Order: sequence, then C-alpha cells, then structure tokens
Amino acid sequence: MHYCKCALYVSSAVILLDSKAQQTELEWISSPPSGWEEISGLDENYTPIRTYQVCQVMEPNQNNWLRTNWIEKGDAQRIFVELKFTLRDCNSLPGVVGSCKETFNLYYQETDLEVGRNIRESQYVKIDTIAADESFTQGDLGERKMKLNTEVRIIGPLSRRGFYLAFQDVGACIALVSVKVYYKKCWSIIENLATFPDTVTGSEFSSLVEVEGTCVSDAEEEADNSPKMHCSAEGEWLVPIGKCICKAGFHQKGDACEPCGRGFYKSSSQDLQCSRCPAHSYNDREGSWRCDCEDGYYRALSDPPSVACTRPPSAPQNMLYNINHTTVSLEWTPPADTGGRNDVTYRIICRRCTWEPEECFPCGSNVGYSPQQSGLTDTYVTITDLLAHANYTFEVEAVNGVSDLSRTQRLFAAVSIATSQAAPSQVSEVIKERVQQHSVQLSWQEPEQPNGVITEYEIKYYEKDQKDRIYSTVKSKSTSATVNNLKPSTAYIFQIRAFTAAGYGTFGPRVEVTTKEESTGSGEQNISFCSLRRHCGYSKADQEGDEELYFQCTKTYIDPETYEDPNRAVHQFAKELDASCIKIERVIGAGEFGEVCSGRLKLPGKRDVSVAIKTLKVGYTEKQRRDFLCEASIMGQFDHPNVVHLEGVVTRGKPVMIVIEYMENGSLDAFLRVRINHPRQSGRVTVSPTTIDNVPLFVLAQKHDGQFTVIQLVGMLRGIAAGMRYLSDMGYVHRDLAARNILVNSNLVCKVSDFGLSRVIDDDPEAVYTTTGGKIPVRWTAMEAIQYRKFTSASDVWSYGIVMWEVMSYGERPYWDMSNQDVIKAIEEGYRLPAPMDCPPGLHQLMLDCWQKDRADRPKFDQIVGILDKMIRNPNTLKTPMGTCTRPISPLLDQNTPDFTSFRMVSEWLEAIKMERYIDNFTAAGYSSLESVARMTIEDVMSLGISLVGHQKKIMSSIQTMRAQMLHLHGTGVQV
Ligand code: AMP
Repeated sequence: MHYCKCALYVSSAVILLDSKAQQTELEWISSPPSGWEEISGLDENYTPIRTYQVCQVMEPNQNNWLRTNWIEKGDAQRIFVELKFTLRDCNSLPGVVGSCKETFNLYYQETDLEVGRNIRESQYVKIDTIAADESFTQGDLGERKMKLNTEVRIIGPLSRRGFYLAFQDVGACIALVSVKVYYKKCWSIIENLATFPDTVTGSEFSSLVEVEGTCVSDAEEEADNSPKMHCSAEGEWLVPIGKCICKAGFHQKGDACEPCGRGFYKSSSQDLQCSRCPAHSYNDREGSWRCDCEDGYYRALSDPPSVACTRPPSAPQNMLYNINHTTVSLEWTPPADTGGRNDVTYRIICRRCTWEPEECFPCGSNVGYSPQQSGLTDTYVTITDLLAHANYTFEVEAVNGVSDLSRTQRLFAAVSIATSQAAPSQVSEVIKERVQQHSVQLSWQEPEQPNGVITEYEIKYYEKDQKDRIYSTVKSKSTSATVNNLKPSTAYIFQIRAFTAAGYGTFGPRVEVTTKEESTGSGEQNISFCSLRRHCGYSKADQEGDEELYFQCTKTYIDPETYEDPNRAVHQFAKELDASCIKIERVIGAGEFGEVCSGRLKLPGKRDVSVAIKTLKVGYTEKQRRDFLCEASIMGQFDHPNVVHLEGVVTRGKPVMIVIEYMENGSLDAFLRVRINHPRQSGRVTVSPTTIDNVPLFVLAQKHDGQFTVIQLVGMLRGIAAGMRYLSDMGYVHRDLAARNILVNSNLVCKVSDFGLSRVIDDDPEAVYTTTGGKIPVRWTAMEAIQYRKFTSASDVWSYGIVMWEVMSYGERPYWDMSNQDVIKAIEEGYRLPAPMDCPPGLHQLMLDCWQKDRADRPKFDQIVGILDKMIRNPNTLKTPMGTCTRPISPLLDQNTPDFTSFRMVSEWLEAIKMERYIDNFTAAGYSSLESVARMTIEDVMSLGISLVGHQKKIMSSIQTMRAQMLHLHGTGVQV
C-alpha cells in the first residue's frame, strides 16, 4: 500500500491557554483550599513558572479539585489539552502504603458563560485518568531527578461557547508544571493559484474539511477542475484537487498572475508561459493575448497566434512550355520566397489574344486543365482544347494562405504562345440509331472542318447523374458505334470528337439518351458478374479441437515487462474504458501516483457498479505512466473472487485512470485495528459519528460489538489463501503479501491487491534496503528472500503466515517494536512469533508451518486452503481454549527462550525478559509466585501501572509462553 505522499502544508496551533506564559498568579479555584496549592517555581530552563501541587499522600480519602479559569473556545471544535507534570513514586515515600495514588483525573465542563466559583463535581465530564508515562521519581532523595511527563488528550466536538478544565487528585503527589490548551487550524494558503482561507479543523479525528479555493486575480478555474483542498484534523492541508490557471495575456509568477510584458503574448489560459511575439509581429501593450502583424504581413484566419505573420509568395520561376498542336504544357519551379508559409499552390490564368489590334480575353470554359486550373500543388499543368493557330498568354501565379488578404500587386510568371495546326472541328450531328436496355447505337456526320485525315473518333459517355466525374470512352474508326454494358432506365450523356495528325478536335455537344426499362423476356442477356466467394469459418472438428485445447491450458501470468511496448501490454490485458462512463464521487485515499477516488462505472447495457479509481497525477513522466499502468497490466490477467478485479483503464484521456472494483472496507490492517480499538479505547480518541478511518459505521455497528468470531477470521484467511493459490497457480509471485495489501469489501470478503513489479516493494513504507540490494518488507519476508532475493510462492507462504498472525492479533504489528535488525537476528536464531491472544493452537501451528526455515517444508497454498476448510467445517477444532488444547503445544517458540518453569522467583523471570524495572510493581501488587503470574490477564498487567504498550505486550506474550510451558510440563491447564 502506498501511504499519502501529498504535500503537507505548514500547520499551526491556536493557543487558548498556556499556563507557562503567565508569570502572575493563575488564581485557579482549588477545592478544598487545603488541596491544590499554587506555587512559583522554575522550569527546566530556569524560567519562572506558576505550578499547582498537591501531595496529601498520608491521609486517606482525598478528593482535591482544581479548576482552571473559563476558556473561551472561539471557533474550535476539537481541543487539545497538553499536560506536563511530575508524579512521585509511592514506593519512594515511606509509610504511605494504601493511601498513596499514582494517577489523577482530568475533567471538563462546557458552559456558555463564566459560572460561579463553586465546583459541582456532577457537572464535570471525565476525560481520562492520567498516569505518569515514565517511571516515577526514584532512588535516593539527594539524587532525585524530576521526570517530566507529557500527556495530550483531545476533547470534542464542543458545542458551548467555552469550558473549564478540572483536575481531581485522589491522593497522589503531583506537580502540575504546565497546562496548554489549543486547537488546530489550517492557515490560509495559496496553492495552484487558488486562495484557501483559514480553516478550523473538523470536529472528528478522521474528518477532512473540504474547502473550495478562489482563483487569485487574473486567474481562472481550469475547465471542470475547480480548486479544492482538504483541511485535516491535524491542521494540515491535504489532497489538493483541481487548479486555477492564469488567463490569456497573463503568466504565473510565484503565487500570482502577472501580465505578459511588451513584445510577449499568451494566447490561452492553457499555455504556461508568455511567449515572445512570433516573427513579423509586435505588440506595445502589456497583458496581450496576441501580437499584431507588421505592415505587409498577414495572418490567415486559420493561423494560431503562435505562428509568424506571413506574406504572399513571390512569382514562380523558370517557366518552360511545350506546344503539341492545340495542347500546351507548362512547367515551372517554386517561387524564391514562399512568404514564410508552406501552403503555396498555383493557379493558371489563360487569355486568348487577337492579332490586330492585340486584345486579350479570358479563355472561357471550353479549355481543359489537367490536373486542374487552380489549387495546383505540383509545378506543371497541361492545357487542352485550345484553338488552332491562335495566340494565348498563360500566367502562373503562386498563392498562399494570405494572398487574398494582401492588397499588394499580384506576382506571376507569364508566357505567350501561338498554337499550330488546328485539330478537326466539332462532331455536331449525332443520331440515336437504336436504344436498348443495355446498349445504345449512335451514328454521326464527319466534322465540317476535318483539317486533315480523320483516323479515329472517340465517344465519351457517362451517367447523367454522375456528371462527368466518372466517364468511359469507346473508339471507332467509322462514323457509328454501339456502346454496350449500360444500365437499363438510365439517362446517359454522349459526346464525340475526331482525331487527326494535329490531335483531337473539341468534343461536340452533349447528347442525352435514356436506356430502356428492364423487362423479362427480352432477348438481351444481362451481364453476369462472376464473383469469387472465399470460404470462411471453421470446420466443426476444428472448433472442438480448439475448445479442448483451451480447457486443457492452464493460464500463466505474463510479466508485462517482457513487452517492448508497455502500451501494448496494457491493452492486451485491460479494457480501455470511455471516460464518460466513469463518475468520480470522492477522494478516498492517496496512492503513489495520485489520488484514489471512489465513484461509479456505468457500461452500456450494464448495471452501474461502485468502483475505486486510481488516477495518475498531472505532470507525470513517461516512466511513471508506465509503472502506474503496469499494475493494471498485471491485475487484468487475474480473474478470481479473492483477487481484486480490474474493470479497465483510461489511457486515451486525462487523467489516466485505473478502475478497480470498490472494496468498501479498505485495507485489512486498518480495518482490523479500528474494530479492536474502538470499543476499548477511552478518552484518547473521539470516535466520529459517521466514519472511523474511512470505515463506515454500519460495519462497526454489526453484532459482536467490534469483535469477529474466530470462524469469521478464519473465513477471511481462507479467502486470502484461495486468492494466493490462484496467483501461485498462475506463476505469479506477489512478494509483498501483508494485511495492508489485502482489501476488504462490505461482505468481509478479502481480496489480494497491490500488484506491480519492483514498484510494489519500492512504495511500501514497510520496505527497507537490505545488503542484497533492493527494498524488502523485512517483517513479512522469508529469510531466503531477504538474504539472497529468492522470491517464490514458498516465500509468499511465509508472508501468508505473517498475515495470519496479523489477522488473529487484530492488526498488531508483527514483532511489535523490535527493530528490523533484531527481527532478522531473532528469526535466524529460530525465534518465531508466539500465538496471538486467544488464537486457536491449530492456527498457530499452521503459522509455524508457514515459517519453516527450509522452504520445501512449508505447506503449499493449496494445502493451506484445505486445512482452513477443514477447520471451518469442524468449528470445534477452533474452540479449544487456552490451556486445554488437545495437541501438545509445539516445542518452545524459540530454542533460546528460557524455560520459565525452572525459575522460582518472579524477579528472575522479569530479569530474563529484561523487564526487571517492574520487579517492585509485581511485588507491591502481591505477585510472589510464577503460578500467580501465569494467571494474569492483560488488565492485571495494566493495573500494575505498566503503561507502555510495548512492555505490556512483551510481558503478556511471555506469560503466555510460560503457561504453555507449564502445560507441557504438567499436562494440566492453568485456569485463567
Ligand atoms: P494503493 O495505491 O493501492 O496503496 O491505494 C491507496 C489507498 O486507497 C488504500 O490504502 C485503500 O484505502 C484505498 N483503495 C485502493 N484500492 C481500493 C479499492 N479497490 N477499494 C477501496 N479502496 C481502495
């Protein structure tokens, strides 16, 4: 799992009360007056401070109250109370046994106004019992060192205008050195060119306050991307979404938009920078969105402001011509100056001139141009159907996109040409001899002026509707011809011309003929088209063969890195989704590459479904995009109910997204921790009415009051094992199997997630560098993988054992607060995690099997699924209470664990587990034998005043081992 790497913004607290800041008397109310006493003192830096002290440890039944002045809460909703105090160890006070206490109580009372000076205890709400965290004052009076404790408690949500704090002493020796009361605020900030105002944090531990930003001046919101940020309970700005961008004519300078300078422009808000005016343009104003063209230069309508201003081209060069009777071909080279553009084309202007007097007229429409008269992209043209023995001038003009805007004189190349011998004159008299459904027979007269010997006639014809875009020709040596293969009931146009040594004459007038209607029984034969049809499709036998082959195949995982083109890998395994099918609803987390959101996916013809959408943040590099999509390339290959399902990807739009089935309960580790912490924690964390760490409350409100049954836990483990069996069957090695990488849906179905290659490990905050190179999540990883990177399905099995332990201990951290180095050392020496509290021995045995040193001795996922199935079918095997288990407890979890049954004294045992600092606590509470210790519960341990959670755990786990050893020795259970 990736942890939030969003930018954290400077946070700060607003102080409501700081007793240290006051040098005059605090004048809080003390009741009875003989209890708490205000005293001047010096703090650790010798600054004068006001403190309150009480130390009536000799007398029993103390109830001393101290109340602060009224504290106005302002706009705060969640208040932090930081207490610094010293507390005397009762053991160091001779002769006080019984009455001396080592705790005091913290209360508050909410009011709208200041109230009288009488303290009415019933009106106060208890926040917590405060105990010293560090060991108390100890040792000889002369060497006594004050141990300053700091405790922070949170109260809220508050509804009145203000409140009082009160401290109740019931017989301890306390000096209250400082009391600080504050709340947290996200301070006004400019981010992505949007201003976010000062915002008070939400009332709940887990709530984020969404704040809309306002664009700074001369900026505007990016389309469909209005700026927002979230103010966290810690007073930090998180998860910026959307942004403002500087308007056209302005660019970003720090947190503001400044106008583009003279000679610069910015045409759109989408552009980042102002640009220098392009060639042949200028501006003399600030804040311009475009530049004006210099005289003689222009911008075509389709030219963007970023291109240079241009001018019409110069004339074409090097014109050559060739006359063939009445046909002229022209050729030239491009102009020396294209005007700065690359859209130059050519147009031809044809004029026929008389001899005397010389006058020129446009050639008219009888002249033909090939390929065309204007818009020529090539530098040649053929002009046909000119008159014989006539004078022509041809002008070739080069034009570009701004020629029509220019008022300057046209520039062209010109030639004057005289045509030679005339071609024959037109064939004008045409007779329709015979008209059939599919043929027309025509005859005609020789032209009036053949101008030579006519050797051939050409008949051009086309369907009238088609104009002459598509035409056919037929040749004939005589003055008649039959044109075949026509369509029935269709109007055709025919034109005829004659050919002599001087070339073709012009076509005669158009003659329209409509063919006859189709009728059966006419003697004419339709032209039949013979088409070759390819034989397509599979034979039955082939198909069956294919199917069989498919079912026999086992699907194997393909490493997307083996693809040269990573895009191809994505599209091979993941469906490309249309972004319009996806509706993003809210941000639910932060991944390595961008936000993770929840939303809905509605595919055409399908029900819409809840999805999680991982987005790739803007400004990504190509490598980030590849790594991001790599997860989809892997996930898309899997299809199993215990592996998160990929719906598809959006790679052809922005942002790039990976769309995954929605897992309502988020990651398994957080989910387990919330469930166990919620009912047991008091005072420290206020529980939100709607969500806790993004886990909806309806889950918490389920039966079992925050606890699962063992069957439920084993069911979850079975799901994870089934998902892993599928992955290992496909040949996929996960390498980072851990509860944080399992997602849980609303039905408590667990699914394996977080796929990637090296990336997975790189993103995991649990991963650390090892001497073999690469990063490894040590606590979850098998020794051979740590030592020589031997990652296999068997090393995944090891990790699975750790996941079992995490689940059965409700999200406890494997190996608690031991360092990674110590974990490696301990594992090498044969140490294995002990059974979590109340864990059925059979499950712990399975964990131990997963942690076999030799990987060949570990069970396969297939076997693990089988074992768990068996347990679920026979719940009695899971019921075995501690101390009455039927199978012998596995030998000691650690060959080096001392045999506690050989110890006689509690102190010996405490020394062996390096907890000797608590010897006095055990003695004072009357635990004199190991038997009595073996019966202790966690509550008993806590009641000894051992407040460090790590120490409680260490002692408890050793007590459990001791119980197991006693059982092994005596064959009898210790009744707890
Ligand atoms: P990741 O980038 O996969 O580590 O995801 C970051 C966070 O987004 C996780 O810790 C989850 O809380 C949440 N998340 C990721 N995928 C999903 C999902 N499919 N359903 C619900 N929440 C998810």
